[in-house]
Amino acid sequence: MKKTPILSTVPFDENGVHHGFLRLPHSRDDSAWGSVMMPISVVRNGDGPTALLTGANHGDEYEGPVALQALAYQLRAEEINGRVIIVPAFNYPAFRAGRRTSPIDGGNMNRIFPGRPDGTVTEKIADYFQRTLIPMADLVVDIHAGGKTLDFVPFCAAHILPDKQQQAACVATMQAFDAPYSLMLLEIDSVGMYDTAAEEAGKVFISTELGGGGTSTSGSNRIAHKGIRNVLIHTGILQGELQQVGSQFLDMSADNSTLFSEHDGLVEFCVDLGETVASGDLIARVWSQERSGAAPINYAAQTDGILAGRHFPGLVKSGDFLALLAKEADVL
Ligand code: ZN
Repeated sequence: MKKTPILSTVPFDENGVHHGFLRLPHSRDDSAWGSVMMPISVVRNGDGPTALLTGANHGDEYEGPVALQALAYQLRAEEINGRVIIVPAFNYPAFRAGRRTSPIDGGNMNRIFPGRPDGTVTEKIADYFQRTLIPMADLVVDIHAGGKTLDFVPFCAAHILPDKQQQAACVATMQAFDAPYSLMLLEIDSVGMYDTAAEEAGKVFISTELGGGGTSTSGSNRIAHKGIRNVLIHTGILQGELQQVGSQFLDMSADNSTLFSEHDGLVEFCVDLGETVASGDLIARVWSQERSGAAPINYAAQTDGILAGRHFPGLVKSGDFLALLAKEADVL
């Protein structure tokens, strides 16, 4: 396998706080010898565990970048035991463009692992994480939200894994994060995901969906700030007390928990995120965009639960995800 073209301007093995860049050569019309300059901070104190923290895996999700900018600005080496690697914007070109995917090559960072050292810009970034950063880590945290087209109740997630000891470590970390909701995911199509790359390398991995709509809120940012500190304390890297108010478990394994629109139109949600519905209750109506006086199309819940996720923009197209229902559960 070829060597990565990405160079880090910060050391990974020196004690102290180092801020710099992952520099990826990217020759283009407006800069023949130019580079993509991805911000990175590395805080190290001794040989304790390593946490690898990322935001903006999708470029239009903001709680991760906000919380990780704050952490990189505030964290002092003497507060920790081990190493914290902070990459606030994982798909950096997408983040700069305010888009889910890269404007350079259309790459979706969470569908492109393990990447390639001689591939597109997005593939080269994925390859650097796959072969350089993930192997350094004990704990991998990837902060997502819904982006411009989705909105979620704030939750932290761990995966159902073949290695039950690894799964238990992920679940304990998810519980330490203490998002308002926690849930176990079984990915239907896990190929190409960063999650899978970290888990197959044997790492403790958690992810989140902390809101959406292409922005963050004071509430969703507070959840991210607190959750990241909590998992660093849980892992033994950061000194301090866990701040926990309790998390509600969710089960979204029901077959009919997801609704997709079969029409283009103007969407009217009839319930809001976090509200309880029963099977048969109206979730949304889709009105015509072309004419007045036409009946709306009704979309009803096919199972009981709370509205855990929804389409965000006011207009919907046929095939768009419309709603996700999840059941509140006492145990995972
Ligand atoms: Zn995402």
